[in-house]
Amino acid sequence: MNPWVAKAVILAGTLAIMVIRAPHGRRSRSVKIARSHKTTLEAVLLVLAWVGFFVPLIWVASPAFSFAEYSLSTGPLVAGALCLAAGLWLFSRSHADLGTNWSITLEVRKEHRLITQGVYRAIRHPMYSALALYTVGQALVIANWVAGLSNVIAFAVLLALRIGAEERMMAEQFGAEYAAYSARTKRLIPGVW
Ligand code: SAH
Repeated sequence: MNPWVAKAVILAGTLAIMVIRAPHGRRSRSVKIARSHKTTLEAVLLVLAWVGFFVPLIWVASPAFSFAEYSLSTGPLVAGALCLAAGLWLFSRSHADLGTNWSITLEVRKEHRLITQGVYRAIRHPMYSALALYTVGQALVIANWVAGLSNVIAFAVLLALRIGAEERMMAEQFGAEYAAYSARTKRLIPGVW
């Protein structure tokens, strides 16, 4: 299989992520931060996430990781493209539902509201589920051990170290409302976990 097909899919996915996020990034800068919970660990995790995000682009543009290449088959390519599409849909929906309450890190904004509707109805972290789907999609489409796994590993570390801290911050901010929301929802997979 021609790896250019995979490269085109990865490039299109990356552009879509940037296009979906751009207006939210711009808008969130105009809403004041009431309380920041950004620790040094959070700053390190964000750098790791950026590295994970850029490594697939290095793979698209250069032969830097050719030593870790394996041959691409149709099955993983199609499965990966479907994961990417599902991840992008959920990424877009979760941004639309969170609105101005979104932050790239752990922050409470002025007049922050707890969102429990839309894709937040059954799970508390649909944006992270979206990014998990997206990174798994990348791993399936990129037939390269380094570039394929970079984002999965970076995102898994971010997820493992952030979810607990984020839920503590939300519980502190919203008290009983968040406790009730947590009691009736799962974290990442509806009905499962
Ligand atoms: N963990 C969520 C949101 C990721 S963005 C998800 O995966 O969908 C991270 C920021 O979103 C946090 O700093 C917090 O301020 C905000 N946030 C998280 N859950 C929220 C909710 N249910 N309602 C409103 N804001 C939320």
